[in-house]
Amino acid sequence: MKQDIKKFSNNIYQIDVFMEDKPGRMSCYYIDSKDPILIEVGPSNSFPYLITSLESLGINNVNRSAMTHLHLDHIGGVGHLVEKYKNHFVYIHELGIKHLPNPEKLWKAVSSIYTEEWLKENWGEIKPTPVKNIHTLKDEQKISLGNKRNLQAIYGPGHAKHHYTFYDEYSGTLFMGDTLGLIYPHGDFVQPNLPPPDFSKEVLFETLDKLSNLELKYLALAHFGIHDKPYLLIENAKESIEVWIKFVSNLPTLSNAEAAKVLSEWLVSNYKVLGIDDNTINNYINNSHFEMQIQGIRNYLTK
Ligand SMILES: [Zn+2]
Repeated sequence: MKQDIKKFSNNIYQIDVFMEDKPGRMSCYYIDSKDPILIEVGPSNSFPYLITSLESLGINNVNRSAMTHLHLDHIGGVGHLVEKYKNHFVYIHELGIKHLPNPEKLWKAVSSIYTEEWLKENWGEIKPTPVKNIHTLKDEQKISLGNKRNLQAIYGPGHAKHHYTFYDEYSGTLFMGDTLGLIYPHGDFVQPNLPPPDFSKEVLFETLDKLSNLELKYLALAHFGIHDKPYLLIENAKESIEVWIKFVSNLPTLSNAEAAKVLSEWLVSNYKVLGIDDNTINNYINNSHFEMQIQGIRNYLTK
């Protein structure tokens, strides 16, 4: 089975879980400290990749994990995780208590965007997580990693109202989930990720400003990988979000699908002007769901 694991300093592992069977789409992280923790699990279909990678590192039991938010590309495999590892528990926003034991509502919400057939085939069906395996998070809660190292949960809505980021002060790494947006290999710029129903510019910017006050060396994104120049990337993200909102609000009356096509064509031409190579452009464009972006921005504009 294919594997791509990168070891960073301070015992942080980045594990590609080959979402939709493609490289560079979804990274999970494992901090191999005295009291280790997994960050994100990925969708159900990615679970075998995650387990194979962990086992290749000699990790045969994982006691706990932390999930950034309740979107299925991040938590789809949670039910598998608690089934595989005895006594495993998951740190997550308090809405997790409501939805993880009865994931039908999460499934339905995502099906309405991606269709059920697509979901089953590409992300895989989800299993319920028992309440006893769920630990809800509080803002600024410190999760001990042993030897005085902590992972601090920081509430960060904007992309989703149930979003936490996780800050490892020891290494200066902030595990961002989807708060920043997307950076696909091998690009070095942020593309916004603004889904309905929760995206709000004001809320997201407040979160990003709060996170900018931390002492940061690296941002670890779910989509995808660990990046330096954290403050520059945060500014980069804010600028792009402003420009996207302006572009979408100036569009004539178009259906969401038509607007998505116009948005993606406009982006391709912008990226070309910036001198970005065709491979990278295709990677960003083909791995984005622009209709969902249109829905998220239009929903925000009518709030
Ligand atoms: Zn995501």
